[in-house]
Amino acid sequence: MKSGARLCALAGVLCFSTAPVSAGDTAESAQAQLSAIKAYQDTDQKLQNVGWALIRGNAEFCTSAAPSIGLQLHDMAGYGAPDDVRAALELKGDFAVQTAALGSPAGLSGVFEPNREIVSVGAEKPMTWAAEERLDWRRLTRLHDYIDTVLAEQGGVTVGFRDGSTAALAGVAACRTRFELAPTGNRAVAEGKRVVIGREFEGFGYPEELLAAVVAHELAHNLMEHRAWLTRNKRTRRNVKATEREADRLMPWLLINAGYDPRAALRFFDRYRPSSGGLLFIPGTHDKWQDRMDRVAKELARIESIRRDDGKADWALHFKRQIDPDKGL
Ligand SMILES: [Zn+2]
Repeated sequence: MKSGARLCALAGVLCFSTAPVSAGDTAESAQAQLSAIKAYQDTDQKLQNVGWALIRGNAEFCTSAAPSIGLQLHDMAGYGAPDDVRAALELKGDFAVQTAALGSPAGLSGVFEPNREIVSVGAEKPMTWAAEERLDWRRLTRLHDYIDTVLAEQGGVTVGFRDGSTAALAGVAACRTRFELAPTGNRAVAEGKRVVIGREFEGFGYPEELLAAVVAHELAHNLMEHRAWLTRNKRTRRNVKATEREADRLMPWLLINAGYDPRAALRFFDRYRPSSGGLLFIPGTHDKWQDRMDRVAKELARIESIRRDDGKADWALHFKRQIDPDKGL
């Protein structure tokens, strides 16, 4: 009997199928499901950890900071075979913990271990919300949006577990970007409100500070609203190049405020310059690697000169834009 171990994760629009598992029996199939989910969650956890450090550490400089708890859930309706995944995770319902970012309120509480079943969030029981039978990521997005709304209105949110216990978490300020692990591909994309990185991206094998450097570059695009700016002012080669330069230059600022060595940005360019021009960066629109390093080095000197006593570097005040952010408005 064949069991198609198809997974559709939470990455917004992307679903994936693992290679179909030919399982001799159900137990073997459940084991395969479990391994696939855990491998995905391990990578996602790395992304959430560096993402959280960046959005939390830079919150006071973001125009869009909002209360956050660093919790990510998953919804069985999002998978290709919800019944199989539910059985593999031994869930009765549809929602469980995906990740709790290291250092976030959810992470610090110690009660959000992966795949622990969730039955209520705030005043809602999300399982009662309508969803397609399978491959439906919208209900999960709705739940994450709901958590953000409750946090914005009340400052905190209470989460109820299947075993009857609850956890009341207070939000802390963080820049408004979500990080999502795309189930396929190796690209990193900043699309305004989200940073989406493919799980095959080689950066997941880098030391943490170098992965953080990559994520900082993508986050910089969102913080400086580059996508909207390019839509307004045309995605010409010249404009794209200007936004890429800004994203490179902001990397060390975001890193230092997140507690990383800002020179990790330099080390990233030094160590991982692909001969082709890039799997991470679009060939032709990014400057030569040495130029990029020079630009980052200049920012490091600037950061050193304006750094506050608490170690933070206020990029909202001191970072020099090279595009007019209001152009086209
Ligand atoms: Zn970029």
